[in-house]
Amino acid sequence: MVENQVEIGFDVDEVLAEFLKGIIPWYNRKHKTNFKYEDFHTYDFWKVWNCSKEDAVKEALEFCRQDELSELEPVKGSVEGVKLLRQKYQLQPVTARPDVALPRTKGWLAEKYDNVFLRPKFSGGVYHGPGKSKAELCKELGINVLVEDNGDTAKECVKEGIRVILIDRAWNQPVMPKGVVRVYHWDQIPETIERIVSESREYTHEVQ
Ligand SMILES: [Mg+2]
Repeated sequence: MVENQVEIGFDVDEVLAEFLKGIIPWYNRKHKTNFKYEDFHTYDFWKVWNCSKEDAVKEALEFCRQDELSELEPVKGSVEGVKLLRQKYQLQPVTARPDVALPRTKGWLAEKYDNVFLRPKFSGGVYHGPGKSKAELCKELGINVLVEDNGDTAKECVKEGIRVILIDRAWNQPVMPKGVVRVYHWDQIPETIERIVSESREYTHEVQ
């Protein structure tokens, strides 16, 4: 492993794993409902399911204990993109998934991406209450570029000086601050990371 190799952070759900496409049919079977991916204009599941936040969190927690979590599809283009990036960078998954998801998350990442990721790190979030935020976790880990789909996390991270590549989704539509680069397909991610890393190297060189 190359010394001082730049570490890139990757959110797991909706960046690597099609979580929503897995939980929706599971939820529909359980509750005899008919929700579709297109219904999720927000990632606050309770607003779509029309239940309390507490109940929605319980549902998601239960899903994270099921084998379906190990059967999620990788986001299109991510397997190829990740392999390409691994040649130059260290790849660190950072997720707000609950602790119960740890073994399945590790297994899934290893299987789908051929063991190229570092051990996933878990931040605080909806399942953990006020734990360490993803921005704090990224800072601690020395991650200065994060690939993410959550708009609030993206905003928090740029405030802390972390550059964010935001994968365009229905739930992250509001205008994003400077420091967030919106991409539409996974195949744009390697070149975007390359550009951001070389920009920040030039900047570091200038100030020295
Ligand atoms: Mg996500």
